[in-house]
Amino acid sequence: MERLLLFPQPFPDESLYSLAVRYHRLVANCSYRLTSQELFGTYSRTCGSILPCCLGALSQRLAAAYSVGELIRCFTLLPLYQPFLDDATYSAACIAMAGNHGNGLKMSLGLTASRFLKHASFRYCGSCVHEDTQNYGVAYWHRIHQAIGTCICPHHGEVLRAMAFPGRTDWRCMLLPAEADGTPVMESPSGTAASTIAEMQLWGFGHPSDVKTLLAGNFLKHRLDEMGFLKSGRIREQRLRAFLSPRLLESPRVNEFQEIAYSSDWALRILRPRRTVVQPLKFYFFCWLLDVNLEQLKCFHPKKDIRSGDLSFEKDTSNAADEIDIEARRSAFSSSSYLKCHDKPGYHWLHRHDREWLTQYVASHPFIRLRECLIDWKARDLAVARELLAANDLILSVEGKPQKITRAALDRRVACGHEFLRTPDNFPISIRRMNDLLESNHDYQVRKIKWAARHYLLSERCAVSVIYRFAGIRVSHVTEAEVFKLLSCMK
Ligand SMILES: [Zn+2]
Repeated sequence: MERLLLFPQPFPDESLYSLAVRYHRLVANCSYRLTSQELFGTYSRTCGSILPCCLGALSQRLAAAYSVGELIRCFTLLPLYQPFLDDATYSAACIAMAGNHGNGLKMSLGLTASRFLKHASFRYCGSCVHEDTQNYGVAYWHRIHQAIGTCICPHHGEVLRAMAFPGRTDWRCMLLPAEADGTPVMESPSGTAASTIAEMQLWGFGHPSDVKTLLAGNFLKHRLDEMGFLKSGRIREQRLRAFLSPRLLESPRVNEFQEIAYSSDWALRILRPRRTVVQPLKFYFFCWLLDVNLEQLKCFHPKKDIRSGDLSFEKDTSNAADEIDIEARRSAFSSSSYLKCHDKPGYHWLHRHDREWLTQYVASHPFIRLRECLIDWKARDLAVARELLAANDLILSVEGKPQKITRAALDRRVACGHEFLRTPDNFPISIRRMNDLLESNHDYQVRKIKWAARHYLLSERCAVSVIYRFAGIRVSHVTEAEVFKLLSCMK
C-alpha cells in the first residue's frame, strides 16, 4: 500500500467525489481508473455515490489524517441517515463503507425500497458555484445539494441544477459543478415546501444527535396532538388524511416528491415504522405537511406523557378490518413454502397495498439461486483421459528422432489442456493417467538408442560413445551393459 503524497484540503461540506475530482486534477491523472487505484487501491464503483465505499483503504493511504469515521462524517451523506438508524444498522453501514463493495448498503438503509435513487442527480447551486469560485478559486460539489429531496439551495434559496455529464458518460469523467450543461430540477419554487425541507435537511444533516432527540421524544406525535389529530392517544386517521390530502397537492413538482405525493399512506406508516428505516426526506416532508418549520424542530422539548408508547390509530371498524386483512395476507405470504416471492400467495396484492412491508420482507429473505453445475466434470475427465492416451500414441509414432513424453507434450495435444492443468481437482482420472504416461529419462534414452540402432544400423561392435552420439545422449541414464544388451536384442 502506498501513501498519498498529496490530497486536497477539503472545503466546507465538500463531498468525497468532489475531493476525488480535485485530487485527479492535482496529480494530472488521465483516467478515473488510475485515480481510483491511487485513492482506494482498487476500482471503486461508488466514488460518485452519496454513500461511497472503499473508505478503509483511503484512510490508510491518508495515514493519520482521517479515520474511516471522520471520512464518513465529513464527506458522505450518512450523517443525514444516522438519526433514523438503530446502532446496529449504523455500525453495519459504516463497516460496509469502510470495505470495498458495499453490497446491500443502500438496501439496509431503505434507499432501494424508497425508489428515490432513480431520481438522484448531481446537483449544484449557481450562486454557490459563483461564491466558491471567488472564495476558494474553484467550484465544488456540496453534500447537502446531493441529499435526496433537496431541490433548493438552503443557503441561497436558489433552484438547484442537475448536471448532465457529456456524451452519455457518468461521474467517472471527473467534472466539477457547472462544467457541463445543468438543467433546473424544478421550474420554480412555488410554495414553501422545497425550501423549508431543504433547510430542515441541512439542519438535520449537521445535527444528527438533535434529530435523534426529536425522534426519541416522539416529535410527530406531539405535533399531531397540538393539531388535534390525537384522541386518547390514538390517531384520528380519517381527519388526518383529510388534512394531508390538499397539502400533498402543494408538493414540489419534482420527481422524488411525486414518488410519494399521490397518497398519504407513507406518512401514516412513518408513525409506526415497523422496523423499517424512515427516509429523512419522508420525515422532513411530513414535518412540512404538518406545518412545522425549522425553528419548531430546533426548539422541541419532549413532554413525558406522550414520549412513551407507540402510536396507535383510532379504532375504526374499517381500519380494524384492514389491519386484520393485512396481517392475514402477510401471514399467508410469509408462511408459504414457495422459495420465490413471486410464487407466494398474495404477492401482487401486497405489492399494491403493503409495499413497504413486502420490500422489507424481500430484503430480509434473499432468494439464493441454487447454482446448477452446468459442466459434467466426470464426462469431461474421461474424455481428457482418452485424449491423453491418443496423445501418447501420437508422440510415440512421430517420424524421426523420438520425442520425450512430458507433461507439456501431452498437454499440447489435449483439447482443454489449460483448464485441465489449472483445475486438477476436476480431472482426477486424467491426472493419474498422465502421471502413468510420463516418461523417465532412462526410458526415453532406451527408446532413443533403439531408434538410433534401427536408423543408423548400429551394432554392439560400435563404441558406446558413437551410439550415444547417434542417439543424441549427453548425460547417460543407461548403463553400458544395458546398451549392448539392447543392441544385441535388436538383431
Ligand atoms: Zn447556493
